[in-house]
This record gives sequence, structure tokens and C-alpha cells, in this order.
Amino acid sequence: MYFRSIMRCYSTMGRKFIVGGNWKMNGSKKSICEILGFLKKGPICPDVEVFIGVPFVYLEEVAKNKPDNVIVAAENCYKVPSGAFTGEVSPAMLLDIGVNWVILGHSERRHIFGESDCLIGEKCKHAIENGMTVVACVGETLDEREGGKTNEVIFRQLKAIADHIGKECWSKIVLAYEPVWAIGSGKTATPDQAQEVHQSIRCWVKENVGKDIGEAIRIQYGGSVTGKSCGELSKKPDIDGFLVGGASLKPEFITIVNAKSS
Ligand code: PEP
Repeated sequence: MYFRSIMRCYSTMGRKFIVGGNWKMNGSKKSICEILGFLKKGPICPDVEVFIGVPFVYLEEVAKNKPDNVIVAAENCYKVPSGAFTGEVSPAMLLDIGVNWVILGHSERRHIFGESDCLIGEKCKHAIENGMTVVACVGETLDEREGGKTNEVIFRQLKAIADHIGKECWSKIVLAYEPVWAIGSGKTATPDQAQEVHQSIRCWVKENVGKDIGEAIRIQYGGSVTGKSCGELSKKPDIDGFLVGGASLKPEFITIVNAKSS
């Protein structure tokens, strides 16, 4: 039923479609077994890159039991290797247990835990310079969108990352555009709304980091993506995949993973 045209998993620019699950602070040994069950069953289109963001305590267990075609990512990490930072986890620790992907700058980190643009830039720098791949999230709140500030906010968040990392680091970044008003709200951005911002993000990267880097960088959309909404979103030229919260805990995630190829 899937994979009628595997080539459709790639954009004309050769960007491989990438879908991530963000489990947030959800899961138990029992529910994780069920999630791993549907991930193993798939089927997952071979030309889609898939990762799952897993709470720290379950990372090792998930890494041991996951299917080979799924990458395990942490949902956060700190900006130094070790020291007196109670409750924090460093890239060095993640690498020590074999995890080399991390989600940084998620809106819940920014808005609930007060992480600044600068801190997120510092975390991106430290993680990438120590060998990790980073899924860096940006996105505006509803007030910011309604105040006509979407681009201003997103460009500020991107600049804070660009100010901290060298050009050579951008190949280790996947960007995720996640409008805060769409996360966990059931209100998905329309394909046109999402495409408009994705295109602005790509232009910003081309102009401020480098043309080739802007062409090559993958930009995921996140915000209440479901098995129903993913098909139309996936057709937009600057949407290179999804970051999925709630639906990544359910078998529906497989439909989203295969959105581009079904
Ligand atoms: C997220 O957590 O990154 C997210 C997009 O959540 P949801 O899909 O539930 O809106």
C-alpha cells in the first residue's frame, strides 16, 4: 500500500524527508513496549529518516529495543560536558550511552522552562561541536502571529543559533518550525500558512548563512500533525518532514512517517 514512488520522499533539492516523534514527558515501560511494537511493524518507507525523542530515563532501553530504521534522540541537553548543574544531562553523557541526536529549543523548553534564545544557541553549539545532530525548534506564539511578528520572532531565534555556530555546523542541524499556537492544541497550521513560514526560514538561512546551506537544510513542520493533515502538508515544497507530539505515541505515527510516499 505504501511506497508507490520512493523518489517522492526526496525534494527536488535532494532533501530526504524526515519525521520525528517527540514523546515529551510521556511513556511508561508498558506503553513504550506498545510504541516499539508499532514502530517495528511499520512498514516505514526506506527513504524516510525517522527519529523519536525519548525521556532521558528510557533512552537506553529504547535504544536497545528499537528497530534499526529508527533513530533515538534526547529531548534536551545542557551546554557543558559536566559539573555542578543538578538535574542536567550533557551531550557527553548522551554519547556515552550511544545517543547522538537531540531536540533543542522546543517551545515547551522556551516557554515553560524559560530557556532564552541565547541559551539555545549555546546548547546547539556545544551539542554539535561534540558530535551530535540537533533538531532545533523555532516558532511564534499566537500573540506574536496576530501582531504580525512571525518572521521577526523566527529570524531572531534563528540568528541566536547562527551567532553561536560556524557554517560547518549547519549540516548537523534539522530545523523544526513549530508555531506555539499549534502545539498540542489540535489546531494545525494550514499547508499554506506552514509553507509561507518554511519558505521564509529557508530564505533567511540562504541569505544569512549560505545559499547551499539554505537549499540543503531540512525544515520540519510541527503542531498537531495527524494522519489526516500530513498528506497535504507534505506536498508543500519547503516542508521536508514533521515533528510530531501527541500522534507519535499512537500507531497513526506510521501514517505520518509515510505521508510523502503513500
Ligand atoms: C511537539 O511536541 O513538538 C508537537 C508538535 O506536539 P503536537 O504534535 O502534539 O502538537
